[in-house]
Amino acid sequence: RQAAYAALKDMPARTADGVDISLMLNAGLDLDMEMMHQVGADGVGLFRTEFQFLVSETLPRVNDQIDLYKRVLDKAGGKPVVFRTVDLGGDKVLPALNLQREENPALGWRSIRFALDHKGLFRRQLRALVRAAGTRPLTVMFPMVTLPSEFEEARELLFREVDWSEKRTGLRPSKVEVGVMLETPALAYSLPELSGSAEFLSVGTNDLMQFFFAADRMTPSVSDRYNMVCPSALRFLREVSKSCRENNIRMSACGEATGTPLSALCFVALGFTTLSMSAASIGPVKQMIRSVNLEKFQKDFFAALDAPQPDFRNQVLALAADHGV
Ligand code: PEP
Ligand code: MG
Repeated sequence: RQAAYAALKDMPARTADGVDISLMLNAGLDLDMEMMHQVGADGVGLFRTEFQFLVSETLPRVNDQIDLYKRVLDKAGGKPVVFRTVDLGGDKVLPALNLQREENPALGWRSIRFALDHKGLFRRQLRALVRAAGTRPLTVMFPMVTLPSEFEEARELLFREVDWSEKRTGLRPSKVEVGVMLETPALAYSLPELSGSAEFLSVGTNDLMQFFFAADRMTPSVSDRYNMVCPSALRFLREVSKSCRENNIRMSACGEATGTPLSALCFVALGFTTLSMSAASIGPVKQMIRSVNLEKFQKDFFAALDAPQPDFRNQVLALAADHGV
């Protein structure tokens, strides 16, 4: 199997009826960048910048951040990299900041909420991203956004750094693209407000599904209890997909579910053409994509979604098998 996946490395992730899907890598270390080339990923769809914060006793200095982001962009060799700004708090506890223990950390002072309340830390990171890009394109996305106002505030801080940096250094990224992660159900109904300011949205299934099903991703007895391949979650994502199209927001997905061929197939059926996943998943997902006639599969998939059997997951599995996937 590994050999079969390796043989696919330089082949496009194109469905049997000719739809191209971008398969990107989830990364967090500059070491991961070798992997991107090894598995033939189309770029990095999620770079988890908080890793650098989590491995250190003290906060990383701006220059250390610039060095890391530069190395990542250099190693990407022109392929796109989506930097996700610090996603701290919750299950990602920062040794350098003495944070209070919370009753429900997943629902607490974390991620973009934490970043917007630690503006010094956040602005230094944004500055580092801008400086590292120099005149190259820069793509940034914000995690755990719940309200459009949080996105707007973060986006404004980013562009302020872009302007300041240009004044100081004379350099400006050739293009700045800003995206938002969809991790809370509330944001799904705010996409009209983000139209025109968010270029893309990336579904973070790990957090989104934990909030959608009200099942803690860190508690083993409930974390595996619910699966994205069920009518409620897929109907929800179908609405997200529709709203993205209506509001001219490019859509993609990251998070563990994209790496499972069956869930990836559902994403592709829902119209997602960019999926970001761990290195080991690229081969299996590419093989699945190359075997499916998407238009034909979609007809049966949407019919099943509107008339699901009690064991919907098996229904979709059987459907996939019928379609030779
Ligand atoms: C997610 O929540 O799906 C995600 C990609 O972010 P993380 O796993 O880093 O919380
Ligand atoms: Mg998340």
